[in-house]
Amino acid sequence: MNIAEQLLSSILDTLPLQIAVIDESSSIVYVNQAWRSFGLFYGLDIETDWFGISYLDICRANQDTNQPELLDGIARVLDGTQNHFTTDYLCHTPTQHPTWLTLNLQPIQTALADGKLFLLSLTNITHHKQTEDRISALTLTDPLTGLANRRRLEQFMHDEWSRAIRHQSSLSVMMVDADHFKQLNDSMGHAAGDECLRQLANILRKYTNRPGDLAARYGGEEFVLVLGQTTQQEAAKIAERIRQKVMALDIRFAGHRLMTVSIGVASLGLNHSHWQKEQHARNQSLNFSEDGNLLIEQADKALYVAKKQGRNRVEVYDKHHRLTVPLSV
Ligand code: GH3
Ligand code: MG
Ligand code: MG
Repeated sequence: MNIAEQLLSSILDTLPLQIAVIDESSSIVYVNQAWRSFGLFYGLDIETDWFGISYLDICRANQDTNQPELLDGIARVLDGTQNHFTTDYLCHTPTQHPTWLTLNLQPIQTALADGKLFLLSLTNITHHKQTEDRISALTLTDPLTGLANRRRLEQFMHDEWSRAIRHQSSLSVMMVDADHFKQLNDSMGHAAGDECLRQLANILRKYTNRPGDLAARYGGEEFVLVLGQTTQQEAAKIAERIRQKVMALDIRFAGHRLMTVSIGVASLGLNHSHWQKEQHARNQSLNFSEDGNLLIEQADKALYVAKKQGRNRVEVYDKHHRLTVPLSV
């Protein structure tokens, strides 16, 4: 090696970027130090001779990275149909936690080899991904109670509504509102009011354990529970249990008034599958995805009735019509 080559080789070995040079058949002709170090996580020796190993074979052997897009993208650059390929993917190594990598592949202009050569680089972006996940969790969480916030609720409702329609399963929503909460704040103070909201949230959290369930803070002292695969009757029973659990907290304010909640329940009824089939026959292009909010509106109406009827009670929307789906889609 002459001085320039030694210098270049040292520079490449200092970079945190994992670099390999591969040929048209994806055989490795060069790897830098960072690449060799990452090989350790595969249980490979630092002295492993990478020369001649097929990079596509490595990708295929690694079950989790065997994504068609990854293999396709690499193959397209190698056969010249594409000039550059980049992708983020989760790499599972036998000895390390899953690692997020950004892969970059592009041809290099060189007169060194007979055939074409390509620069393959892998950047570890696990930290960025983790930060991204934390930020996205924060933007979807209510800071006071730790429950989902309204934005998360909207996403969730959209998904669960579509799922319920697709699988023709039931779906229930309840809106829970603390009674006379303004008065509670006035008599106990805002900080104590906050603590009461946290305790309420803790109760609601206990009733949302399944993947199709979600407890969200909807507004100040208003919460929404989404219960997947839950019928109206089941949801009404759960609402009643929640109402009693809140009373059992035995929080007293303004003299001797007990903290209570009023709850409105609305459900995508058991009959909706029949209803949907009929509608489907009439109109193939039905789109229910916009109507997840309908159940929340109906639960809100039921809540309004509960408030009007004296509070500390559960009301079910449209008791006499089990079909609580939109009449005009
Ligand atoms: P109702 O039984 O009709 O629901 O009466 P209410 O007093 O609960 O309803 P109203 O909408 O009049 O008042 C809601 C109160 O909730 C007013 C507001 O000060 C309080 N509140 C809203 N958000 C928070 C919060 O984050 N912390 C505390 N401590 N109080 C809050
Ligand atoms: Mg209230
Ligand atoms: Mg309210």
